[in-house]
Amino acid sequence: MCEEMKMPCVCDCGNVFDLHSGFGSLEYGSNVVICLQCYANQKAREDLRENIQDLQIEMDNTGKGRKREIAKLRKELDKLGGPLNDF
Ligand SMILES: [Zn+2]
Repeated sequence: MCEEMKMPCVCDCGNVFDLHSGFGSLEYGSNVVICLQCYANQKAREDLRENIQDLQIEMDNTGKGRKREIAKLRKELDKLGGPLNDF
């Protein structure tokens, strides 16, 4: 890396990044800045959680069995790890 970082930050994952290229955390609040990699990870988890919630709402509204689909999404969420997987 030849360009010097203006405000180097250390992410939870150990990555060092410039504050200006960081992202607000989706899970810890936007005042916590994380690296691109972690942001992509959180975004993926967020999308999965939304999908699960949508399925649960649909199941509640229609009474249709969606348990298998929900279980599948939950498994994917588990694989990604991270906090807030229980909701
Ligand atoms: Zn990170």
